[in-house]
Amino acid sequence: MRSKNKKRGVCANCGKTCYIESHREPPRSVGGEQTIPLCVKCHMQHHKDKNHFAQWGRLGGKITAQRYPDLWKRNLKQYRSAK
Ligand SMILES: [Zn+2]
Ligand SMILES: [Zn+2]
Repeated sequence: MRSKNKKRGVCANCGKTCYIESHREPPRSVGGEQTIPLCVKCHMQHHKDKNHFAQWGRLGGKITAQRYPDLWKRNLKQYRSAK
């Protein structure tokens, strides 16, 4: 079965055609409604650069998981497999 979140497109950051995720900028919590297409790598990197994952971790996984369920799941998966 194909995941709903995975669709091919052009990444706004690196310009590659690959699986694309919608990144919201600014975050929804600040009223952001614009979404930017980013490949998984750039999307992860973006949030890593901004140290979002650490911030979210501190805020508590539950809140984050509700707000960013897909991203959170993916982050946890990648984080675990990277360590
Ligand atoms: Zn990219
Ligand atoms: Zn994002």
